[in-house]
Amino acid sequence: MKRDIKSMTQAELSSAFSELGLPAFRAKQVWQWLQEKGVMSFDLMTNISKDLREKLKNEFDIFGCEVEKKSVSALDSTVKYLFRLIDGEFIESVLMKYKYGYSLCVSTQVGCRMNCAFCATGVGGFVRNLTPAEILSQIHAAQNDMNIRVSHIVLMGMGEPMDNYDNVIRFLKLVNADDGLNIGMRNISLSTCGIIPGIKKLQQEDLQLTLSVSLHAPNDEIRSRLMPVNKKYGVDELLAACREYTNATSRRISYEYAMFGGVNDSDECARELANKLKGTLSHINLIPANDVTESGLKSSTPERIKKFTEILEKSGRNVTVRRSLGGDIDASCGQLRSKHKKA
Ligand code: SAH
Repeated sequence: MKRDIKSMTQAELSSAFSELGLPAFRAKQVWQWLQEKGVMSFDLMTNISKDLREKLKNEFDIFGCEVEKKSVSALDSTVKYLFRLIDGEFIESVLMKYKYGYSLCVSTQVGCRMNCAFCATGVGGFVRNLTPAEILSQIHAAQNDMNIRVSHIVLMGMGEPMDNYDNVIRFLKLVNADDGLNIGMRNISLSTCGIIPGIKKLQQEDLQLTLSVSLHAPNDEIRSRLMPVNKKYGVDELLAACREYTNATSRRISYEYAMFGGVNDSDECARELANKLKGTLSHINLIPANDVTESGLKSSTPERIKKFTEILEKSGRNVTVRRSLGGDIDASCGQLRSKHKKA
């Protein structure tokens, strides 16, 4: 097995090079090709001699992703990429343009184990974790394709980041490295379905990123129907872990709440939610639910969302309604999937 060079930190790369008898400046050059420019082949490293490139090819592999298909939204120029991985699996990423720059929604797994009732990713089941290099390469591939810089990252694509914890943390360190992509932690959001041990570990990492928690219901009865993970980590235990996270890190948690008509959008749900988030630094992000054919769930009406928002605001909660992007190309929250019909 050759080593996955793009998942290595700069320090690991330096020591691997020194073991091979190569000077430190070579490690730095190779690191920059991989991490800053995102090249996918040693042959593109033009300041490295041919001999050395051959030597590197024998020792290492560059894992990443290649654009298989690209769809551009006619509504808002959101771009959805279908990427092919080295073993022929597929993942999707979504590039969104905002006033402050480009934000990329990246995947962390091929498929997902969590099986939320409303999400397309779970439908195809779980295939495998992505390596740090494969998560990182989604950014390089989008940047190189569009000739732009991505300034913000959301770990909200396919997969559950806390179910691939070590690779996700390593990815965060790589993407944040000064002489790599150098994307600031404050520009990164990580979204979880509420895996409590992951939240506790993340608290210890002391990173300046934004933690988002997919709550979607104020109590176990409703949440367990929507999200099987709730049977293991219930609402009250989850919110207690979130409170602890906020107390320890002083960082506000963003609670995602997808609105499903007649399921979790009553006035009573809004009051219960307001109550449970009382006295903790929080932001509630309401998401008009996106259609996923298999789920049979429908979005709440705009009137319901407005009333729900008002109740939360009157109780003093911080709340916004997420603007949906890329709906015409199935690029919205919950619409990413790894099973694709051959064109
Ligand atoms: N596994 C992580 C990351 C996925 S993020 C998590 O659960 O947080 C994607 C966000 O979109 C999550 O908040 C998810 O619950 C939400 N989502 C999934 N399907 C959706 C749908 N059909 N409509 C609206 N939001 C959805």
